[in-house]
Amino acid sequence: MAEVMNKMTTQDYIAREDKYGAHNYHPLPVVLDRGEGVHVWDVEGKHYYDFLSAYSAVNQGHCHPRIIKALTDQASKITLTSRAFYNSVLGEYEEYVTKYFGFDKVLPMNTGAEGDETAIKACRKWGYKKKGIPENQAKIIVCEGNFHGRTTTIVSFSTDPDARKDFGPFTPGFITIPYNNIPALEEAASDPTVAGFLVEPIQGEAGVYVPDEGYLKKAYDICKKNNVLFIADEVQTGIARTGKLLACDHEGVKPDILILGKALSGGVLPVSCILANDDVMLCIKPGEHGSTFGGNPLGVKVAIAALEVVKDEKLAENAERLGKIFRDELRKINSDMIELVRGKGLLNAVIIKPKNGKEAWDVCVAMKDNGLIAKPTHGHIIRFAPPLVITEEQIIECVGIIKKSLAQFE
Ligand SMILES: *Cc1c(COP(=O)(O)O)cnc(C)c1O
Repeated sequence: MAEVMNKMTTQDYIAREDKYGAHNYHPLPVVLDRGEGVHVWDVEGKHYYDFLSAYSAVNQGHCHPRIIKALTDQASKITLTSRAFYNSVLGEYEEYVTKYFGFDKVLPMNTGAEGDETAIKACRKWGYKKKGIPENQAKIIVCEGNFHGRTTTIVSFSTDPDARKDFGPFTPGFITIPYNNIPALEEAASDPTVAGFLVEPIQGEAGVYVPDEGYLKKAYDICKKNNVLFIADEVQTGIARTGKLLACDHEGVKPDILILGKALSGGVLPVSCILANDDVMLCIKPGEHGSTFGGNPLGVKVAIAALEVVKDEKLAENAERLGKIFRDELRKINSDMIELVRGKGLLNAVIIKPKNGKEAWDVCVAMKDNGLIAKPTHGHIIRFAPPLVITEEQIIECVGIIKKSLAQFE
């Protein structure tokens, strides 16, 4: 069998996934087998630079030795206790993560979508208990172009037709306003039944859409004025990706509820959480919310190590510095397929202008052949988000690969 496996080609692996797996993704035709830092290798041994980092889950780089050690050490001790009992490491994590981000309390979950769901529930609970909104009338303001996950409640307020079509009926209680639009927020937030404003500091899935400078601060101030919770979904932008620990830090905004996921575990396990102060978090009482795996010993040990790596290796500083270099170098590329370069830190995107019928997808396939993997989002945008452990030398080399790939379409 081992011998048969060794002879499998990329096409064989793809065909097998296609046959036995649901068709809910459209991956680039590369089959990854191994990863280390910014590097990944496919089943045929070909090397690539990873410029997706599993949607910013692998900010610390693939298989970071320190995180893997935390995983294997804890794995042979105890992995899951459920929250029916206390365990010897959850408290250590709770103290660490709350002090790290500066909140009173944490509520641990697993996936990003669960983090968002938890934030929605905590916000509604606060709306009834503290703001005095009449039962079942609480509303949460969300933005056009949002991405917060794939659950039925979350897709209820998506504006992406693919995410919604034929998945109704939808959960009520959400008001949609345009992103990066302060007057719209001002108007919506004045409704006394509004409990929260849920926002991505930069819209990642929408194509790394960076709002105007000052947007988050103004939005925060409007929330304060109207006694509305400012809820930041930093599942993708958080944990050093944009050049600060949190993207909200660029404007000195402290969310009332902070949602984290993805890089919280360095891409090793699904670990997410919400962070909030007691005024919000203590509205939830025993039995009202939970998760079998949330706060499991394995996940929390991994998360502590993942957060330590971010600080000790100064990943935010690295992202800030190399992000500027990366955007500068991309803007120097002379290709009429590059319509716009935008981003913050190492969360960047290039808007691709199609040429002779060739689109962002074709550019991604060319880059893959040249040793760099990235994925189009929304058809015409390519996101570039390498692990934050990347070096200046590697960034320059990678810009060379991007340049060479675009040149193939000239
Ligand atoms: C990826 C993402 C999520 C969902 O996370 P999952 O772990 O895939 O459920 C939520 N919000 C944002 C901003 C994301 O980028």
